[in-house]
Amino acid sequence: MSAPIKPLQNCGKCGLCLAACPVYKVLKEEQASPRARLQLIKAFENHTLESSPLLKELISKCLMCGSCAVACPSGINHYEKFMDMREKMVRDLGETPAIRSLIYLLSRESRIQRGAGMAKLGQKFTTKLTPAWLANKYCMGNIPLKRLPKLNAVPFRKTAATTIPARGARKGCLVYFTGCATNYLYEDTGISMVGILTHLGYEVIIPQDQTCCGIPLMFHGARDQAAENMVTNIRALGAHECDGILVDCTTCGAALKDEYPALIKKRRVKDPQNTQEAWEKLEAAAKRIAEKTTDILSFIVAHKQDLVFDKNLPKLGNVAYHSPCHSRNSFNTQSLVQSLLTELPFMDYTPTPDEAECCGGGGTFFYEHPKTAKKIMDKKIHHLKAVKPKYWLTDCPVCRINLAGNLNESDNIQVLHPVTLIHDALKKDP
Ligand code: SF4
Ligand code: SF4
Repeated sequence: MSAPIKPLQNCGKCGLCLAACPVYKVLKEEQASPRARLQLIKAFENHTLESSPLLKELISKCLMCGSCAVACPSGINHYEKFMDMREKMVRDLGETPAIRSLIYLLSRESRIQRGAGMAKLGQKFTTKLTPAWLANKYCMGNIPLKRLPKLNAVPFRKTAATTIPARGARKGCLVYFTGCATNYLYEDTGISMVGILTHLGYEVIIPQDQTCCGIPLMFHGARDQAAENMVTNIRALGAHECDGILVDCTTCGAALKDEYPALIKKRRVKDPQNTQEAWEKLEAAAKRIAEKTTDILSFIVAHKQDLVFDKNLPKLGNVAYHSPCHSRNSFNTQSLVQSLLTELPFMDYTPTPDEAECCGGGGTFFYEHPKTAKKIMDKKIHHLKAVKPKYWLTDCPVCRINLAGNLNESDNIQVLHPVTLIHDALKKDP
């Protein structure tokens, strides 16, 4: 993702990216490999291949995990190439109604809010009226409706104060980019984030006017809409003097760190406010935001000596971890998190052999390619069950949806963001 950009012609067809690709590993078809996808893009750019539904399907059968770019010895930025190609495919062939609706919703915060409100109402009725067997049978992609997360009763940002004071002596001020998932689905993550950061002595600011980071829009070729979200977020985050910008989701973090500085150079949104001078200011703000953005687990590792745990807390039992692709490939956190979990006194962390392999969630991949997503997931669950954990931790909300959605109630495994267990274990009055 932050790999240097080299032209497609640099691909020596060595095949090292195949061993890194979760889709190729389960399908074992050359056409599902990153190498083949690059060749298709090359042929398309050379005008020897035209847009077609099959080409779009082959390009979309990718989790945008970035593992191929990390493995590639030729320095090709697959991620950027795939994103460009997706945009061209959508331009030529359009999108399905479901994906068009998703793009429409995610392009404005007011729409996300209305959509979440309606979905909450729908969830209430379907939970009451749908028999369990039916809710288990009908799926969104590879996830039974019954296993989808419940929406927050009220969006997290509406329940949290905009400025939350530090506990004890104030060390500084942090801005918290909550992302959509914490705001609408996983308020437990938001509460724990604020609890940990204030425990560490930081004042926390939660800008109310932030919106979706735009990554789901970019994945679906809607970079113009993503650029509008980017401008909203740069204004929202850039308005606060702070010592750092914290994310609980490394996909949002990758947007702020890697995508915004690149996108702002390419896309100028249509906005009368955006004069040349104003745009240059936005570019400078995007750079500052990128420099200040940190994921919460790296932040906790850097401040772990200041965490005060409740000594009387009983051991929580076995814990496993799933390392999200953006955490590994954009923030390089896997070994950091492993040592953090090993050191935490209140849990027994056991790594699974494929902890660092993609879960198959990939934005909307689990919805668009459910059979492939399920194959990827089944392997992980097989390894997980050997560890018999009580908790399966992950720091990406889409992974969390996918992991929890593919477990059964009888598995008795709770999927959580690591911050929840860390926050619960803190001494309440340090
Ligand atoms: S690893 Fe890089 S050079 Fe090798 S086949 Fe894949 S894209 Fe080409
Ligand atoms: S981004 Fe991930 S899923 Fe897509 S081709 Fe590369 S390794 Fe495979």
